[in-house]
Amino acid sequence: MSQNNRPKCHVHGDELKKGIAKSLMGYPVDEILQMDTNFPFNGIYELQGCLPRLDRPDAVKKRYCPSCKKLANEYIKSHMNKRELEG
Ligand SMILES: [Zn+2]
Repeated sequence: MSQNNRPKCHVHGDELKKGIAKSLMGYPVDEILQMDTNFPFNGIYELQGCLPRLDRPDAVKKRYCPSCKKLANEYIKSHMNKRELEG
């Protein structure tokens, strides 16, 4: 029972926390994909893919890294705003 085996973010080294992520159905927009690649433990969205499911949860339990989540939120905010401005 070592304390060192707790899951950590391999990007930031933060210990992962338990959180709730929103389920995202269908094919995600580029911003979401990019965000997911850059901040792997953002814990904001859980990509469910395109396959229809009978038990569609609105939210799922997911571990997240606080640094990833913060950066991902800023990323998505700035990029979504840009997209709106560009119309
Ligand atoms: Zn992280």
